[in-house]
Amino acid sequence: MTAPRYRGRFAPSPSGPLHFGSLVAAVASYADARHHDGEWLLRIDDVDQVRCRSGAEQSILDTLDAFGMHADAKPIRQSECSERYLAILDRLIAGGHAYRCNCSRKQIARIAKSGSEGPIYPGTCRQRPPPDDASAAWRVRVPAKAIAFDDRVAGEISQDLARDIGDFVLHRTDGFAAYQLAVVVDDHDQKINQVVRGADLLWSTPRQIWLQQLLGFPTPAYAHIPLVYDPDGRKLSKSDKAHPVDPTNPVGGLRAAWKHLGQTPAPEGLHGVDAFWAWAISSWDIRRVPADREEKHESRNSL
Ligand code: GLU
Repeated sequence: MTAPRYRGRFAPSPSGPLHFGSLVAAVASYADARHHDGEWLLRIDDVDQVRCRSGAEQSILDTLDAFGMHADAKPIRQSECSERYLAILDRLIAGGHAYRCNCSRKQIARIAKSGSEGPIYPGTCRQRPPPDDASAAWRVRVPAKAIAFDDRVAGEISQDLARDIGDFVLHRTDGFAAYQLAVVVDDHDQKINQVVRGADLLWSTPRQIWLQQLLGFPTPAYAHIPLVYDPDGRKLSKSDKAHPVDPTNPVGGLRAAWKHLGQTPAPEGLHGVDAFWAWAISSWDIRRVPADREEKHESRNSL
């Protein structure tokens, strides 16, 4: 049997224009897909409407275009998939894997031990479910066993979800699907078999693999690429210094991203994005990308 064709994606959150950190993620996922003669899809991760900024989606799409990264299909938007997330949530509820929870962040913070990804949910509502009429989030039960995978950049990763994370949120009290549920459903529905993304999501991956296992979805291969930090050591997207990339000098931005990814520098004299990519796609070597196994990242473990 021949291996299925490589299918990768870039999934930006439209919380602002593309900055250098997300350009690096886009370049890595695009180069890896094209190097393997694969398809490259786009998804707009706008499930968290609170973080979305108007105009950001169009600005990101225009920037990707100006930088010569063209997707193989029209982008899909998470905001258009809420019914699908609910249907999958129902499957998890029917299987006895999910339960309602109305603990506030404050209540959790008071009693929970803190883990590298935020407070470890102590299972309060697993034992004592909230009344039927209370507004509530849905959490998934996690197993007390290691979930391991071999990241193409970071190497062997293993995490015990019960010990390090706790039962995590699938659907939030405000009615939106949580990132962890949405990404698993989208990657499955878009038939993604290769995920290349920022290392801030390295320690979210075991949660995603657990959901894939519960739902009978195949697990893609993962590659987590090093984040870009500002001089104060903060992740670029969260910092005031997250300046948008300069769309008037795409080759300059591509060269800088290429350098951050540890790749052989592009020869001088490459003019224009098409010339850059013609050279870069054959030269891409994921083994040169430096590992970033940073264990303390912003939490996606929230309500
Ligand atoms: N939307 C996420 C971000 O911009 C990426 C999600 C993913 O690649 O799974 O950080």
